[in-house]
Amino acid sequence: MKIAVIGSGGAGTTASWLLDERHDVTVFEKNPIPGGHARTTMVPLGGTPRPVDDGFVWFNEGLYPTLHRLLAIHGLEKVMLKLGASFTDTRTGRSLTLPPKGVGGALRMASSWRTITDVARLQPVFSKAHAMDKAKVRDVAWPDFLASFNFPKSFTDDFLTPFLAGAWGCPMSRVNDFSSYALLKYPLASDVTRGRVTPWYVVKVGGEGYIRKVQSTFKRTEVKLDCAVETVRRGATGWVVTPRGGEAVEVDHVVFGCSPLVARKILGDQQGVDALTSVLSRFDYYSTRIATHDDPSFMPARRSDWSTANIFYDGTESRVSIWADRQLGYDIFTTALDKREPANPFHVSTFILPVLSPAHYRAQAALWDLQGRDNLWFCGDYTRDIGSHEDALSSAVEVASRIDSTLPRLAQLRGS
Ligand SMILES: Cc1cc2nc3c(=O)[nH]c(=O)nc-3n(C[C@H](O)[C@H](O)[C@H](O)COP(=O)(O)OP(=O)(O)OC[C@H]3O[C@@H](n4cnc5c(N)ncnc54)[C@H](O)[C@@H]3O)c2cc1C
Repeated sequence: MKIAVIGSGGAGTTASWLLDERHDVTVFEKNPIPGGHARTTMVPLGGTPRPVDDGFVWFNEGLYPTLHRLLAIHGLEKVMLKLGASFTDTRTGRSLTLPPKGVGGALRMASSWRTITDVARLQPVFSKAHAMDKAKVRDVAWPDFLASFNFPKSFTDDFLTPFLAGAWGCPMSRVNDFSSYALLKYPLASDVTRGRVTPWYVVKVGGEGYIRKVQSTFKRTEVKLDCAVETVRRGATGWVVTPRGGEAVEVDHVVFGCSPLVARKILGDQQGVDALTSVLSRFDYYSTRIATHDDPSFMPARRSDWSTANIFYDGTESRVSIWADRQLGYDIFTTALDKREPANPFHVSTFILPVLSPAHYRAQAALWDLQGRDNLWFCGDYTRDIGSHEDALSSAVEVASRIDSTLPRLAQLRGS
């Protein structure tokens, strides 16, 4: 069959790799580089360029089975990180690290009654979130979840909510739209409150390097970079995919590996796809600008507090600086920007991310009900769970398997 894949992020690339052995696949990618949110800046350090990721960065042992297999199949190495977080209220200078860092961090936490009570209050939050996670309760908005406790505002408004908004790189104005399930899934998976931090990893060659490696094994797939799809319209026998300034191709199936906003625009208002376009319109997004830089003024004042995720709250906005390479010893940071900009950043990216609200989960379920109708398919972070890289990959596996359940690489990637 002839198949068009729109987008070469983790989802589009995984779908293409699976379909590649049996089908003629054309990947259309808007950008001049592949990878989408798997985006890497090569930063010159001591004369050697080092990969620093600013979109998709890390993954853990439990939540990312497909990604671990995809990396192993392609001989790609992982580097282990000890995930930890710091939180600084810039109005008061109060800071804490989770888990407490070293004897100094533990002593500082023990000497602050406010910090002790804040950390103690996390236990019932996590217990309840754990129960809801197991029962897959996704339709409780964050303010309703908080209302089920009797916490003071000093805990919820000055610590917990800005902490989670910062961790998600989400504006404070949108965090209350999130479902509690989504906001708490990563902290639950990291077990930060118990001081028993589970290992997390980064891809040694960076996100873009891993995507390029997977694409290098394509046999029957053509990747067209700098080739944004403008329209997908019904043709004589299938779908006609027309890229900007390029030649239209007619295919049997179209796999949308781009955001639902883009897919909605590409499908336009043609007849027969109204049910789909109305579901695609229900997904909501926020945007974030991420700078890759070496300015330590975006990190906590005490170097001993520097953690993998460093969140700062000024009473209005919450922002995070990631120090993903601490195990390797580089002082390179990726910061979600708000009011202040680092001098001479190596790179600044703008990304969009889904608002993981109860409405998002309803739209997600509705989209799966329409998958494959008229051979139109949708994969990507937004189609599953919390929009992680694993969600992007596993949705691609599901879509590829529904297009052709006999694909030889399916068993490899499913570990079956
Ligand atoms: C700042 C940030 C940090 C993140 N960190 C993590 C993390 O640490 N761990 C984790 O698990 N997840 C993380 N994520 C989530 C991340 O979105 C997913 O991990 C995943 O990479 C998304 O993959 P995707 O293929 O669904 O979408 P994308 O990577 O967004 O790919 C979509 C592709 O479609 C292309 N495209 C768009 N329009 C068109 C068009 N008209 N024609 C052709 N191509 C088009 C885009 O250029 C892009 O390449 C992060 C996301 C962001 C933004």
